[in-house]
Amino acid sequence: MPKPGAYVPDVTEGITRVEDLPKAQVIRRSRNYKRRPCPECGRSAYRVRSFTRVLHELGDPVAERPRDLHVTYSQHRCIKCDIYFNADMDDLALPKCHYTHRAVATAVRLVVEDGLPYRAASWHLWRDHRLFVPFGTIQNWVEAAGKKSARLRRG
Ligand SMILES: [Zn+2]
Repeated sequence: MPKPGAYVPDVTEGITRVEDLPKAQVIRRSRNYKRRPCPECGRSAYRVRSFTRVLHELGDPVAERPRDLHVTYSQHRCIKCDIYFNADMDDLALPKCHYTHRAVATAVRLVVEDGLPYRAASWHLWRDHRLFVPFGTIQNWVEAAGKKSARLRRG
C-alpha cells in the first residue's frame, strides 16, 4: 500500500532512447492574417506566405507529456515601403526563441529564486514540467535576465 510522501522515481528515469520518451502534445495557435498594418507606414499589407514555428511550452504534469505550440503565422509585404514583416507573436515568445515566455520565466525562477544550479534546474524542468531545456540555455537566459535587472536598477 503506497504511503503519502513515499519516494516514487520519475517514470522516464533510466530511459536511454529518445523514441521511448513521452511524445509531445501539440497545441495549435494562429497568428495568420490576410492583412496587417505595416510597422513603418501603417498601411494595410497583404499576406505573401505563411510559416509554422514550434515553441516548447511547460508540459502536462498529469499526462506526464511535453507540450509544443505550433504557431502558424503570416508574412506580409508593404509595397510602399518595400519591406517584408511577420505577424506579431511577441505575446507568445521572444523573436528567435524556441520556448514560450512562460517556459523561460519558470526556468529563470528556478535559478534566481530557488537557487538551483543550472543542471539541477534543467532536470527539475524535465521531471516536474516535462520541458527539456539544455542547462547552457538556462544559463544564457539567467545571464540575460541579470543584465536586464541590473539595467533597471541603474536606470
Ligand atoms: Zn509601409
